[in-house]
Amino acid sequence: MDVAVVGGSVAGLQAALTLGRARRRVVLFDDGQARNRAASHVHNFLGAEDLSPSELLAVGRRQVSAYGVDVRDSRVDDVDVDGDEFVVGGERVRAVVLATGLWDELPDVPGVADGWGRSVVACPHCHGWEVRDQPLVQLGMRGSPERSVARALLLSRWSDDVTLCTDGDELMALQVDQLARAGVAVRTEHVKEVRTGSVLLGGAELAARRVFVVVRQHQQSDLAERLGCQVADGAVVTDEGGRTTMPGIYAVGTTTSPALLAIGAAGHASTVAVAVHGDLLELELSGGR
Ligand SMILES: Cc1cc2nc3c(=O)[nH]c(=O)nc-3n(C[C@H](O)[C@H](O)[C@H](O)COP(=O)(O)OP(=O)(O)OC[C@H]3O[C@@H](n4cnc5c(N)ncnc54)[C@H](O)[C@@H]3O)c2cc1C
Repeated sequence: MDVAVVGGSVAGLQAALTLGRARRRVVLFDDGQARNRAASHVHNFLGAEDLSPSELLAVGRRQVSAYGVDVRDSRVDDVDVDGDEFVVGGERVRAVVLATGLWDELPDVPGVADGWGRSVVACPHCHGWEVRDQPLVQLGMRGSPERSVARALLLSRWSDDVTLCTDGDELMALQVDQLARAGVAVRTEHVKEVRTGSVLLGGAELAARRVFVVVRQHQQSDLAERLGCQVADGAVVTDEGGRTTMPGIYAVGTTTSPALLAIGAAGHASTVAVAVHGDLLELELSGGR
């Protein structure tokens, strides 16, 4: 095998597609935890807007398989380094592409985890259009109101009925002023519960067609760190070709850039896969591995 791709959501499958079409022998491992798997659709993804996340990945799997990519439903817990090669899931390869993605830590409020991906979402660019002009609530992560203020201001472009619930955090005068100018209402009471269609505060129930939350993102896998790759601010550090600080190890998609939407993660993976192919070619021509 030439390349092992670890992670088979949009970024991993796109890397495998580009490498498979370049006639590289590719094995892809995935344990089925695509970050958006709870959502009904992959919005804002040209050509795939009517597909669910699992439908899009099924199409991707079918397409990469046609180029000989060996897709395996399994988790990779270790990558062994053997000279300038790697052993991944029992396969000896010359390069590894980490496409292991992120998971989202949600605000610790009853009902948020239950509604995640459906009545509770994070990104207005992904889920704002469907609820435009309707009552929306922005819920913060307790203790960091600046992020939820920024999110509420953003959300005000999709609806003029937006309420920011700070869940007990007080805001600065400047923030209150900005929110007022954007037409965003503010409630500072503790949030008791998020329900489908509403948010329960101390003494009131606010209508909420969708609740948007601020999340904290974490790497799904610590493989990069354990392989000695530099990780900074929750992202694997790479150059423009996806090369990590460890030779032969590459990283793609949200693993390297948490804010990427799905199509951005796939686009990045395609660019990196071209670099992987070029690097392997260079080694082959110089008589290396
Ligand atoms: C609720 C929700 C809804 C969203 N909706 C949209 C939307 O509508 N439009 C949009 O553009 N974006 C949306 N996003 C963002 C989108 O999910 C990401 O941009 C996209 O999933 C990033 O893809 P990725 O391939 O980088 O990583 P991920 O989707 O995180 O995939 C990583 C993959 O790697 C696998 N993996 C991890 N570690 C291992 C291991 N050790 N061994 C084997 N496999 C492993 C996981 O199982 C997973 O399949 C949404 C996000 C969330 C949370």
